[in-house]
Amino acid sequence: MYGAYDDAGEIMGGMGPLEFNDIQDATLDDDGLIECPVVALVDVVLYPRLVMPLFMSSKKALASLDAALERENSLICVAQRHSESAIPRPEDLYTVASEVAVGRTLRMPDGTTSALVQGRRRVEIVEFTQVNPYLRARARPIYEPSSISAETQALMNAVLELFERCVQLNRSLPESAYIFAINIQEPGWLADLVAATLSVSLEDRQEVLEMIDPVQRLHHVSILLAKELDRLELEDEIHDRVQQAVDGSQREMFLREQMRVIQGELGEGDVFQEEFSELHRRIEEAKLPEEAHARAMKELGRLAAMPPMAPEVGIIRTYLDLLTDLPWTKETEDNLDITHAAEVLESNHFGLPKAKERILEHIAVRRLAPDRMKSPILCFVGPPGTGKTSLGQSIAQALNREFMRVSLGGVRDEAEIRGHRRTYIGALPGRIIQTLRRAGTINPLFMLDEIDKLGHDFRGDPAAALLEVLDPEQNFTFTDHYLDLPYDLSKVFFITTANYLDPVPPALEDRMEVIEFPGYTEEDKLEIARRFLIPRQMEAHGLDEHAPDLRLTEGALKVMIRSYTYEAGVRNLEREIANVCRKIARRVAEGKRFAKSISATMLDRYLGPPRYTEPLAGEVDEVGVATGVAWTQAGGDVMPVEVTLMSGKGNLMLTGHLGDIMQESAQAALSYTRSQARKLKITVSAFDKKDIHLHVPEGAIPKEGPSAGVALAIALISAFTGRKVHRDVAMTGEITLRGRVLPVGGVKEKVLAARRIGVSKVVLPKKNEKDLVDVPKRALKDLDVVLVESMEEVIKVALHPVPRKPPAKKSATATKTSKPDSASAATTPPT
Ligand code: ADP
Repeated sequence: MYGAYDDAGEIMGGMGPLEFNDIQDATLDDDGLIECPVVALVDVVLYPRLVMPLFMSSKKALASLDAALERENSLICVAQRHSESAIPRPEDLYTVASEVAVGRTLRMPDGTTSALVQGRRRVEIVEFTQVNPYLRARARPIYEPSSISAETQALMNAVLELFERCVQLNRSLPESAYIFAINIQEPGWLADLVAATLSVSLEDRQEVLEMIDPVQRLHHVSILLAKELDRLELEDEIHDRVQQAVDGSQREMFLREQMRVIQGELGEGDVFQEEFSELHRRIEEAKLPEEAHARAMKELGRLAAMPPMAPEVGIIRTYLDLLTDLPWTKETEDNLDITHAAEVLESNHFGLPKAKERILEHIAVRRLAPDRMKSPILCFVGPPGTGKTSLGQSIAQALNREFMRVSLGGVRDEAEIRGHRRTYIGALPGRIIQTLRRAGTINPLFMLDEIDKLGHDFRGDPAAALLEVLDPEQNFTFTDHYLDLPYDLSKVFFITTANYLDPVPPALEDRMEVIEFPGYTEEDKLEIARRFLIPRQMEAHGLDEHAPDLRLTEGALKVMIRSYTYEAGVRNLEREIANVCRKIARRVAEGKRFAKSISATMLDRYLGPPRYTEPLAGEVDEVGVATGVAWTQAGGDVMPVEVTLMSGKGNLMLTGHLGDIMQESAQAALSYTRSQARKLKITVSAFDKKDIHLHVPEGAIPKEGPSAGVALAIALISAFTGRKVHRDVAMTGEITLRGRVLPVGGVKEKVLAARRIGVSKVVLPKKNEKDLVDVPKRALKDLDVVLVESMEEVIKVALHPVPRKPPAKKSATATKTSKPDSASAATTPPT
């Protein structure tokens, strides 16, 4: 806008371009004022000595110009306070203005006129003498003092320094502006010149014009200049940064292009581009829901914008792989043919009526109300090897669903279920999402094994995450932290398994329908072995083709069940059968002769000596040893209880890893025994003179629960009365201090265990009678179940009668040597 620098040479030589040399300043009247036409400037302040073109189009301005040109070529140029006033009135104008000389003018065809003007001096408008047809005013020229002190020179130098930097940074200022500036001797002029180059507001410019004292003006301008410099430097820095970024990406583009060319030369094609297109194709083919699709495209966009070696590239690619691999809509169609399902279930499993029935009912309901029924969440509870997992597999087969299995044993971290956020290094989706990815369909049969072994610690509670998975009300928007998108689990058929229910959090248990898998009886096992395990193992070892006549006799199977395995399920039995098959297969392969029928006597040749003797085989009735039965993870088991009395002071010592409740049971049993001393014919003082050691063997295995109460009491009473205990009477039941026998849990397993260990009688609390319906009839056939309500009844069944004559001699020895000796109890003379 300012033409001054282009004409710098001329300006420096005199007062401006040559054409201005002839123009005189307006003449003063008697009052020392000048009277000139006025032109109002919009957004411009014109300083003395500077040359600039003015463009005028309004009638008033043109009239002013004409009037000036007619007389002395002088005008007063004044800034308008507000740019919006189209026809400015005197009050819209500032009072301090510049008198200017008008040089050459140029009329344009559109009616505008440009006039080259030069500022001459500051003037103060005193009065307007005319408003129409153009503005005229009388004004007083302002003279500024012009002495330069050393201080002013220093200020001028400082301003010049700043200005030099400004010119360097401001691309719109020519370098000649600085050269022009260093030749200026007057501080006021320097201030005006610099002010004219600054991008400051109209008010700031006008303020500079109104400052009469040149030093003060220069000082003010130096402040404005410093601010301007700050702004320019910031702009420059930003510009540099942008430039660097642009340079960087250009460099990368260049390198990429080079790589592409090299790959083209080598005939390899553009790997990145190919991969990118491949990902894009996969996203489109994956039929993602809207939200997931949007996310995938966003990530793809990020990937495209990244250099191929950036660390994030791998992370995004892995994420997109998951997104596209994960099934979102693909599902298998359920086979709801009940007859087919029943056939499949029967052909793979013997027994298990409850579980099979529940599945068939579910299929029936689904047939009648296809979309209304959500899949039930089943929980199979039972000892290992009772067919929980394999039944799950059969159900999947019957329904025509994918079968997926995840073990939760030892899972302590919530993230294992629900994944880690992607911001973690090495983050992975949780097991649920990982498994569904493998399944490839959204409706697999999903088996969550060992839900009773779920742990929890500071890393969160995986059970809480599972609650969400297993809740039909919320699992259609399950969120895995890694996936970070809602995922629909509602079509998944969940089955969980547990060995026992106690450790399963109640909230979780609540969500599930529990189906119990009791252990098998010997007859069941025989049947399972004959119909399923043997044919399966024969096939697995190729014997169905090469030794189709091979048989295992019933006797051999029974010995296998009794002496080579000890379990509620059939897993080890299957393993032993596999052992036999392997040995035979070797002989067949070696072309050796082999027995077609394997009998019981031949077993140790194949399987080595028997591993288990019958628990009670060889045991004789003794004092102080009772046969309890307990409920363990493996089903039921025998739990002998031993009591020994030693001389002492009536202390009770409990060993065998007994839990708190069991220890309390022992205390209660002892208190009951003491309270019944009279009735049981025990000398009361015996309790104070003897230390009691109560031990439950297999000491390393923790034992817990109140159900051993009856066995503990019988062992104690036997020890104190010297009455022997019938070893082949197994017992279970909680006792009260009054000797009442309360019901217990796990009756079915305990009865089966009792039968397995070969006892003839089982003592059960009367209140457990109802549980006997669950016990297979066959198991009850050769077992005498005695239902009791009080300890007195137990004593009658379990204890031998009172010994006639106490062997007094033995007692003396025992007391002297204080040797642990349960027989010593028998010496306590009954009173
Ligand atoms: P779990 O999951 O209860 O520990 P599995 O399902 O792994 O038990 O069963 C162990 C083995 O026993 C499998 O080979 C299974 O086929 C077999 N099995 C268990 N119960 C039965 C049954 N009722 N009928 C046929 N085979 C069975």
